[in-house]
Amino acid sequence: MEHDVTCSCGKVFRARSERATYCSSTCRSRASRAGLVGPKAKVVQLGAVPAATPDDKTEPLLVAITREELDRAGQLNTALGQQALLLAERMASPFASAAAVASLAKRHSDLIAALVPPAPGKPDFLDELAERRLKKASGE
Ligand SMILES: [Zn+2]
Repeated sequence: MEHDVTCSCGKVFRARSERATYCSSTCRSRASRAGLVGPKAKVVQLGAVPAATPDDKTEPLLVAITREELDRAGQLNTALGQQALLLAERMASPFASAAAVASLAKRHSDLIAALVPPAPGKPDFLDELAERRLKKASGE
């Protein structure tokens, strides 16, 4: 019995079989490759997984963390802080070679170590202040 079926590509076609789902073998194999058919089929929204492209507007995690750490240390708007941020951006670039990433990572961690004080656990500003006062009082 012939009936109209809408293919995943959006094309409406006349199918003879009740089981027909795709307008062509091209559409069938494309859906198969995407994991849309078969026992392990799962629905994948096209564009749901962001590609790491240079024009991707999502900030890489490394850059976001670097920004956050620098900001917390009050070093974000300093020359060295901006340099560390730039290094993070270069490192996160999909076009950075392994060798480039290695040397960038070295410089980046040096800068972070110099600019951001180590925070064991949750940084507590008041504790830090009290510690500083104690050191001052003991003449350090
Ligand atoms: Zn189709």
